[in-house]
Amino acid sequence: MSTTRKIDARKRIALVAHDNKKKDLIEWAEFNKVVLAKHELIATGTTGKLLEEKLDRPVKKLLSGPLGGDQQIGALIAVGEIDIMIFFWDPMEAQPHDSDVKALLRVAIAWNIVVANDRATADFVLTSPLMQSSYTLALTDYSEYLKRRIDGK
Ligand code: PGA
Repeated sequence: MSTTRKIDARKRIALVAHDNKKKDLIEWAEFNKVVLAKHELIATGTTGKLLEEKLDRPVKKLLSGPLGGDQQIGALIAVGEIDIMIFFWDPMEAQPHDSDVKALLRVAIAWNIVVANDRATADFVLTSPLMQSSYTLALTDYSEYLKRRIDGK
């Protein structure tokens, strides 16, 4: 079982923002339009629509977050189809899909993708030299964990 995954120079970036954070994310994306142009963008429905309008470029739009979009992003992470997640979640308001938010944050860590949950971290990520080169992600080897579950030990 492979315990690494190679990320290309052209990254697949997932973008998600809760309603109170959408303005922040759109401003950030507009400011970083030139860098983002080199990468593929995937987003939950409403965030993606706003990004497409502001950046005037295609964004792969999934379902709206509360309608399953967070889970779709989580599934893409699990199959190695997202390299970076910029997720501006709202620390001040409970969401109807809090369980999905928690699951998404968890799966991102389980697969060691790059995650930024606020604007400062997103700035650091986007200005990293690694944004312009390929990178080999170390993955936790879960084979022992899976074997233990099958063996019941
Ligand atoms: P939205 O989803 O982009 O469709 O608003 C974001 C979220 O709340 O997860």
